[in-house]
Amino acid sequence: MSRIIYMNGDLVPEEEATISVFDHGFLYGDGVFEGIRAYDGRIFRLKEHIDRLYESAHCIMLDIPLTPEEMEQAVIDTVNANELSDAYIRLVVSRGKGDLGLNPKNCPGCQIVIIAGKITIFPEERYTEGIEAVTVPTRRNVVGALDPRIKSLNYLNNILAHIEAARAGAREALLLNSEGYVTEGAADNIFVYRRGILWTPPVYVGILEGITREAVMRLAREEGIPVEESPITRHDVYTSDECFVTGTAAEIMPIVEVDGRSIGTGKPGPLTQQLTRRYRELVVEEGAPLS
Ligand code: PMP
Repeated sequence: MSRIIYMNGDLVPEEEATISVFDHGFLYGDGVFEGIRAYDGRIFRLKEHIDRLYESAHCIMLDIPLTPEEMEQAVIDTVNANELSDAYIRLVVSRGKGDLGLNPKNCPGCQIVIIAGKITIFPEERYTEGIEAVTVPTRRNVVGALDPRIKSLNYLNNILAHIEAARAGAREALLLNSEGYVTEGAADNIFVYRRGILWTPPVYVGILEGITREAVMRLAREEGIPVEESPITRHDVYTSDECFVTGTAAEIMPIVEVDGRSIGTGKPGPLTQQLTRRYRELVVEEGAPLS
């Protein structure tokens, strides 16, 4: 079935949604994006995703000719045009068509594309059994070069990590920063529960400021669990009682083995399960209604 795509203000069939080969998103990875999810007719944390998109765009000096409110409406319209109530939404803003040089001044206007499709949910046993992770040789981009807080169209750092984990037979990659601190997964944030405290790395070590991460920190505090944003090392991960990663697509995914060391009992722990239950309640309770 052909999808309806939002392109620069129009809703068009996917066959007509085409981008120039001179688009700097294609030529240079010059642009920003968001991955958003709708549950049961509500878009989860839509405003937060749009705010992060505009922050990323501001940092790369990309002017988006819509107000954030207009962008929210465009997302809602795209999901409705595809008659979806559960959806995965990809919002992309590229620098637009330019010449073969990298100067963004030669790109007169950005391209705004919104794709809404059915969500492919991970098999349930990954949640009930947990998955293995490995630390990968590729280090997370350093904050002083390309800050991982910018959700840019250049995801090579993450893709290399993903390839390296897959080659090692693991489903998740953990990236260290240049100093050896644990940053995050290839497309997810990491949490460890150790000695009664839930730890997650702070943004300054080089991570995307995940929206699921924020929601999970809030849920944990509501459940009376102390939460600390503090640098963690591989030692903290290996010796944790529980470990999980969070992201819009994965939600809360238990990690039961890291670099061959089993985590806790080697099964998803009680806190991970409790937070998963609470998160699954939250996503259907909250969110911008589609109609
Ligand atoms: N880190 C990276 C590198 C990501 O790409 C993502 C999003 N897929 C996340 C973390 C999780 O962010 P969010 O919870 O906002 O989806």
